[in-house]
Amino acid sequence: MNIVIFGPPGAGKGTQSKFIVDKYKLYQLSTGDLLRKEIKDKTEIGKEISSIINSGELVSDEIVKNLIEKFVSNDNYKNKIIFDGFPRTINQAEDLDRLLKKHNQKIDIVLKLSVSMETVKKRISERQAQEKRTDDSEEIAIKRYKTYEKSSEPVLDYYKRSNLLKVINGEAKIPEINIEISGIIEAMKG
Ligand code: AMP
Repeated sequence: MNIVIFGPPGAGKGTQSKFIVDKYKLYQLSTGDLLRKEIKDKTEIGKEISSIINSGELVSDEIVKNLIEKFVSNDNYKNKIIFDGFPRTINQAEDLDRLLKKHNQKIDIVLKLSVSMETVKKRISERQAQEKRTDDSEEIAIKRYKTYEKSSEPVLDYYKRSNLLKVINGEAKIPEINIEISGIIEAMKG
């Protein structure tokens, strides 16, 4: 089963992905984590993207597509991926469909975590205190939320058309969201 977990920054995508990974033995593919690793390792890509990430904009579709392809083409991960933070544009959603098809796979569920801008601000300032992410200041968090609204929300319509989309209240408590997600996954497994 391949799952896309979708939502604005601070929606709880990472937290819920980790829960699904543990319970259903899938692999989390977080493009944000992969990109931060490129920066940490000071690779060519890392140098190119650090200012983009720190401004709250999106990295180019081409860069993330190449990162994703390494996973999708790896048999160890076949039909066991949670895409966390990808796709974020319609172009990426189309790339993902093409890539999965090429490797005889598909998306089974798209989980959307809905949260308000107020919650995003609150959670990101809490996370900043804990994780010290350079793009977690309030100003950049607002920019990231706006980037999400402009570039990523249209992706929801793309998935609505294919009937894959399940919308979840991301304001609920973590264990409640865990239960709701488990219910959706169990129903899909049949
Ligand atoms: P995240 O950890 O998912 O919040 O991502 C942190 C930052 O990495 C984002 O604000 C973007 O700058 C960049 N990023 C992560 N995933 C993508 C993606 N799929 N497409 C473009 N940029 C991305």
